[in-house]
Amino acid sequence: MTTEQTTAPINAWHVAQHQFDLAAEMLNLDPGLRRVLREPRRELTVHFPVKMDDGSVQVFTGYRVQHNLGRGPAKGGIRYHQDVTIDEVKALAMWMTWKCAVVAIPYGGGKGGVIVDPKKLSKKELEGLSRRFFTEIEVLVGPERDIPAPDVNTTPQIMAWFMDTYSMHVGHTVPGVVTGKPISLGGSEGRNEATARGCVYTIVEAAAHLGMDLNTATVAVQGFGNAGNIAATLMVEQGSKVVAVSDSQGGIRNVAGLDIARVLQWKAEHGTVKGFPGAEDITNAEVLETECDILIPAALENQITARNAGSIKARIVAEAANGPTTPEADEILFERGVFLIPDILCNAGGVTVSYFEWVQDLNRDHWTETEVNAKLKTIMVKAFHEVLAQAQQQGVNMRTGAYLNAVQRVADATALRGLYP
Ligand code: GLU
Repeated sequence: MTTEQTTAPINAWHVAQHQFDLAAEMLNLDPGLRRVLREPRRELTVHFPVKMDDGSVQVFTGYRVQHNLGRGPAKGGIRYHQDVTIDEVKALAMWMTWKCAVVAIPYGGGKGGVIVDPKKLSKKELEGLSRRFFTEIEVLVGPERDIPAPDVNTTPQIMAWFMDTYSMHVGHTVPGVVTGKPISLGGSEGRNEATARGCVYTIVEAAAHLGMDLNTATVAVQGFGNAGNIAATLMVEQGSKVVAVSDSQGGIRNVAGLDIARVLQWKAEHGTVKGFPGAEDITNAEVLETECDILIPAALENQITARNAGSIKARIVAEAANGPTTPEADEILFERGVFLIPDILCNAGGVTVSYFEWVQDLNRDHWTETEVNAKLKTIMVKAFHEVLAQAQQQGVNMRTGAYLNAVQRVADATALRGLYP
C-alpha cells in the first residue's frame, strides 16, 4: 500500500480497492470473482449544459457509477462538490455495495457526483443543474435499476426535483426512483436523521462493549452537515458532552460543552460555526486531535491519515462520513487500541431508511417515525454484533470484520446466480 508515501492527494479508489483486497485475501475469494468485484460494473460520465442567471451557458461534469448489482438494484447518493472526481465516485459506489451487504438490505452499490460548488449557485441554477443532470443519467436510473439519494450538499428539495424530472419523462409519478425525498412527496419519516441515528445506535453498542458510560463521555464531531450536526444533537440526548465541532471553514471548541442548538442557529446566521461566542476557534485538524472519548468524522474522505492517527485521543472513532480513515491510519489506530466503527457499518442507517422509504413507495404505504426508528435500530444492532463477532473471531479490526461479512454476502449471491452467459 503506497497511497501515503507520496505527497499527491490520497486516492479514495486505491483505498477502497486495498480494503477489498485485504478481505478477499482472508476469504480466499475465487480469483475470477475477485477480478469482477475489484472493478465497477458501469461508469457513466456526462458533460451537460446549464443556463445561468446571467444568460450564459455553463457546462458541468457529473458521474454515475454502479459498482455491483448482484444483490439488487444499485443504491447510493449523489454529491455536489467542487472536488468530485471519477475515482472518488468509484470508491463511494464500491463502499455502497459493502454497506448494503453489511446491513443485509437487498441492494447493490452505486454513487453519483457533480463537480460544482452548489453554494455558488442561485436556487434557479441549482434546480436547472439538478434536472439536467438527472436527465443525463436516466439511461441508468429507475426504481428497479438504480435509486439515487442525498449525499454531501444534496437535499430533500433536490431529490424532489430529481423525482419530478423522471416522472415528467415517463408520464406518471414514480416516487421510488429516488429516496431522501420530502415527506409530503413519499419521503420516509426519520430519513433525514437516519444516518446520524444509525451512527449513534452503533456508538451505544460500542460503548456498552467497552464499558464506557455515555453519560460522562465527551465527543468531537468533524463536519456539521446532515450527518454531523444531527449526530452531535443525538449524542447530547445520550447525556454526552460535545466539546468540539467543525465545518468546511474551521472548528470551535469548549471543554465545558457546546450548546448544539445554539451552534446550529449561529451557523444558520453566519454560514459557519466559526466565531461562536464562548468557544475558541480551532482548525479542522485540531478537531480530530481534540481530547475526547468519541470522535465522529462526518465530513469527507482521508481525514485520519498516517500523519495524525497517532495523535487521535478518542477511544471510539465512529465514521459517519464515507472513507474518512486511510488504511495506514486504520493499522495505527488498531495497534493503539482505538475502537473504530467503520463507515460501511456506522453510517449505514441512511441507506437503511432509504430502503424503508423505497419499500413504502412501492407499496403506497407510510410508516410512523416510531416504526421506522425501531426497525432501523434492530438492523443496526444486529449488523454491529455480527461485525464485532467476526472481528473478534479473526483477530482483526472492525473494518476488516465488516468487509469479511459484506464481501462474503456479495460473493455468495454472485456464486448462486452464476456467470452469464
Ligand atoms: N449517501 C448516503 C450514503 O453514503 C445514503 C445513500 C442512500 O440512502 O442511498 O450512505
